[in-house]
Amino acid sequence: MIQVRDGLVEVRAPFNIQQKEIDSFISQKENWIKKKLLLQKSKKKIMKKKFENEEIFQFLGKDLKLKIIISNTKKSYISDESIYLALKNNKENCEEKIKKKLEILFREMAKEIFQSKTLNEAKNIKVTPKKIIIRSYKRRWGSCSHKKNISYNWKLIMAPEKIIDYVVIHELCHLIHFNHSRDFWKSVDNIMPDYKSSKEWLKLNQHLLDW
Ligand SMILES: [Zn+2]
Repeated sequence: MIQVRDGLVEVRAPFNIQQKEIDSFISQKENWIKKKLLLQKSKKKIMKKKFENEEIFQFLGKDLKLKIIISNTKKSYISDESIYLALKNNKENCEEKIKKKLEILFREMAKEIFQSKTLNEAKNIKVTPKKIIIRSYKRRWGSCSHKKNISYNWKLIMAPEKIIDYVVIHELCHLIHFNHSRDFWKSVDNIMPDYKSSKEWLKLNQHLLDW
């Protein structure tokens, strides 16, 4: 098995296989590996954010313009078209501070929106999650623990609402089936018959949901 991720190439092989065979397998796959590495690199480039005034950021799947406000009293908020980010003074008007403040704002919004979606959907499905937690994951969107706590990656707030709904339903269905069995997917399908397109979207677009 061969995998290219974050610029690393990983090959997994059974113990009894000879290095020679592994090497020849890799050289057969050379073009494919190169293509993958290039693709991942270009995706990263598109993603590189500057964190400056007027820059576009994704929020609930929409392109919103970042508007920096310098004010001691005003609070940050998000409208239909813009993200108003309040900084106390001009000294805070730098990449590092803006990135930090924007993450705080996105986490707050994620908490509010994911919480209400989860509670609403939980009523429909007739399950009761214990706690809803917002956190930062490298490569996952949500998780459900044995203690019935549901966690979400705050970065999911950048995705379209339909995609968020899918993740919410997915995690809630784990309160019925604590696995990815056929029955689990049947439950998801019952609630969201076109869930497959959202699942696929997440696979193909995860690079859009990161900074
Ligand atoms: Zn799952």
